[in-house]
Parts: sequence; structure tokens; C-alpha cells
Amino acid sequence: MRCPFCGNIDTQVKDSRPAEDHVAIRRRRFCPACGGRFTTYERVQLRDLVVIKSNGRREDFDRDKLERSVRIALQKRPVDPERIDQMVSGIVRRLESMGETDIPSKTIGEIVMEALARIDTVAYVRFASVYKNFQAADDFDKFVSELRPGAAAEE
Ligand SMILES: [Zn+2]
Repeated sequence: MRCPFCGNIDTQVKDSRPAEDHVAIRRRRFCPACGGRFTTYERVQLRDLVVIKSNGRREDFDRDKLERSVRIALQKRPVDPERIDQMVSGIVRRLESMGETDIPSKTIGEIVMEALARIDTVAYVRFASVYKNFQAADDFDKFVSELRPGAAAEE
């Protein structure tokens, strides 16, 4: 596994243990070249998923990419990193069990939004605002006002 800090290929595993209720193996790694420490997760991949983008292009599903977008949405939010891992694994398991290997990116976005809405409203709004790519500002205002409980009653 290549060191994410210096690019050295020869990194060492210091410790391996089960994570996420034995769904993953968590490995702590050490880079002797730069002294960097990082963690990797090993998981079973049930099937190779393909994402169908809105322009019709196909792309291999990339768990890391999904995880990055979720982490960006959750930046500085009070959510335990372990909980984020569990959430991402849950999303991937849902995708894998949909019965189709080809999944529209729209479907993935909706599942992510659903999952985020359950754990953090701010992260949900962040993700949704990027994902939905609102054309008009008032669309976004409408969307946010719909999120706030009681907002409709005030009008
Ligand atoms: Zn290194």
C-alpha cells in the first residue's frame, strides 16, 4: 500500500483488527520512509458496480469517491468517524443488494441524501445543495425552508 504522504510503496502493517462489527478489517500502517501513519480498511466487495452518469457515461463505482463526498458534507460536524464509516458501508451494501450492477448516479445521490438526513441535517443540506445543482437561488431557499420544521406554518 502506497504511503499517502510521500508516495513510498513499502509501508508496514503495525496492527490489524476487525471493525464495523466484523464487516471490515482495519489496518494501521506505518511508512518507514517519512514516518507517516495511516489506516486502511479491507472489505468484501460483493459485486462490481457501475455508475451510469446523467450524460449516459459509465464509470466504475468508487467507494473512496463516495466516502470523500460524504466526509466533505460532514466536515466539522459532530459526527463520530466510525459512524461515518458505518454509514458509507451501509450505503454500499444497499447499492450492492439492489439487484442491478448498473446504478444511475441519481439513485446513489438519493441514497446518500437519505442517509445523511438521518445523521446530520447540516451535512444533508450541504450535500443536497451541491448534488441537486440548483439552477435558481429561490429553488434552494424553498428547499431549505422545507427542511425547517414549522417553516410552512409561518408563511
Ligand atoms: Zn511516507
